[in-house]
Amino acid sequence: MAQLIDGKAVAARVRAEVKVEVERLKAQRELTPGLAVIRVGEDPASKIYVTGKKKAAEELGFNSWEHHLEASIFQDELLALVQKLNADPAVHGILVQLPLPRHIDAERVIATVSPEKDVDGFHPINAGLLSLGKPGLRPCTPFGVMRLLEEAKCEIAGKRAVVVGRSNIVGKPQALMLLQADATVTICHRKSDLPREVAMADILVVAVGVPELIQGEWIKPGAVVIDVGQNRRADGKLVGDVDFQSASQRASAITPVPGGVGPMTIAMLMRNTIIAATGGV
Ligand code: NAP
Repeated sequence: MAQLIDGKAVAARVRAEVKVEVERLKAQRELTPGLAVIRVGEDPASKIYVTGKKKAAEELGFNSWEHHLEASIFQDELLALVQKLNADPAVHGILVQLPLPRHIDAERVIATVSPEKDVDGFHPINAGLLSLGKPGLRPCTPFGVMRLLEEAKCEIAGKRAVVVGRSNIVGKPQALMLLQADATVTICHRKSDLPREVAMADILVVAVGVPELIQGEWIKPGAVVIDVGQNRRADGKLVGDVDFQSASQRASAITPVPGGVGPMTIAMLMRNTIIAATGGV
């Protein structure tokens, strides 16, 4: 039976570290990290995410602002707000909650955020720095996965890592982070032979958005399995992209859903805000 990788506990540790850092910055440098979050429209999931981020920021002693804009806002008005926040020295991190309404070009908005304040790590400059193996702000979810692997004492160098999913926010940056940590990395997508590729993985990270797609029988005995997926089943249950029951019979360690990767994303957002506030990338 696999060891459970407790994302809630690790996220709490990351937050505690951030809190200590905030207190030190306030005392020694009179610096209070500031996080501004922009939400556009009434997407209910976005509202929940933004509330969680704001709450975490406040609990850790950050300055935090939420800018809630009408769904009908003109793109230029949104860009002007981003530019205003870029120029505000009290704001160290800017996050534009996605998805944005269809009439707004999300890529343009992301590219308008100053790369030094891009705490989501989605700006093309930060994506480019990651692909060059240079320091930069990293996307929170894969950054959190790296911390979970570290806490699980999972050796990465020389291991075969398979990432299922190639989105710009999870799969691709995850693969690059694992590569930077000296894994031999395979990236899978819809055209991949999943059972064959998954069977090769010493470390398996899955971010596809398909409930329980990955079957336990495909998994190499002893593999470390990280399930990024968060899918609401028809019966209301939250499940991952991996069939947890069968996978936990084969893996040496595995993240549960919920309570695995999920809690790490906000914790790493807080860490990124500290990095942005101190220019520490
Ligand atoms: P996404 O942008 O929809 O990308 C999904 C990726 O999975 C694509 O690359 C797609 O392949 C691949 N894929 C989909 N179905 C597949 C299949 N049947 N076989 C093989 N590959 C398949 O999703 P995302 O934003 O990366 O999110 C993925 C999952 O992670 C979702 O469940 C999401 O809720 C979750 N998530 C969780 C957190 C967290 O905080 N825990 C954060 C972000 C996302 P193609 O490129 O070929 O289309």
